[in-house]
Amino acid sequence: MSVGVLAGKVALVTGAGSGIGRATCRLLARDGAKVIAADRNLKAAQETVQELGSERSAALEVDVSSAQSVQSSVAEALKKFQQAPTIVVNSAGITRDGYLLKMPERDYDDVYGVNLKGTFLVTQAYAKAMIEQKLENGTIVNLSSIVAKMNNVGQANYAASKAGVISFTEVASKEFGKFGIRVNCILPGYIDTPMVAVVPDSVKQQVVQRCPLGRMGQPEEIAEVIAFLASPQSSYVNGAAIEVTGGLK
Ligand code: NAD
Repeated sequence: MSVGVLAGKVALVTGAGSGIGRATCRLLARDGAKVIAADRNLKAAQETVQELGSERSAALEVDVSSAQSVQSSVAEALKKFQQAPTIVVNSAGITRDGYLLKMPERDYDDVYGVNLKGTFLVTQAYAKAMIEQKLENGTIVNLSSIVAKMNNVGQANYAASKAGVISFTEVASKEFGKFGIRVNCILPGYIDTPMVAVVPDSVKQQVVQRCPLGRMGQPEEIAEVIAFLASPQSSYVNGAAIEVTGGLK
């Protein structure tokens, strides 16, 4: 994207202490935005801020699966740069893989709670703040996954939550268009972040072999597309679900 294109904007990124969220903070700051790095892991969010510098970024502790935590984060976020964020990136996410017959209810609830309900809570709370403050040109980017379409064995909870994010995104785009808020989502493929560090090497090899580009993606390769969706250069992109997978299907 272009340096300076987001000057004067404030962005809130959840899951900002790691992987795609941290790379997104880096690129949004590169493009001129002030960035609120939000994460359940405050120390990790602070490390992101340390890298970017405290003039252009601030850390915020939030558990996206808790309505109360998200609600109180809005007031905190407003204080950081005296302005409600008009760019919101829902990158917080978790996996709890397991075969269906053995999957504990808790693992289903936890994955839904962060990936789908978390996306709802953050989107609702921050869209309200934008609308109340009559801020225009809002843009919300949600992280789905290509797993929503591949429906991998052992990932029923994760696949269903990420399919939900696609539907949620489309509805939100229809409801928020009249407020000048665009909502889009990205379906990353297999990206080299701590989330996939636990995957056995044999499984990684199989996925890489299925990918036409023959490699895993880097978090910055997702963050570049997020930065585009956050910018005015994507002003007519709304309700889209964009695959960024190296061709992996
Ligand atoms: P990651 O594990 O590296 O980072 C996730 C971050 O989310 C962590 O910093 C974690 O502390 C934070 N988080 C978890 N639960 C939270 C909560 N309740 N509240 C606030 N923060 C919370 O993961 P990643 O690979 O960067 O993934 C980012 C997003 O992209 C996720 O939604 C993930 O599902 C999605 N995704 C990742 C891949 C991949 O291959 N890495 C592929 C497709 C989609």
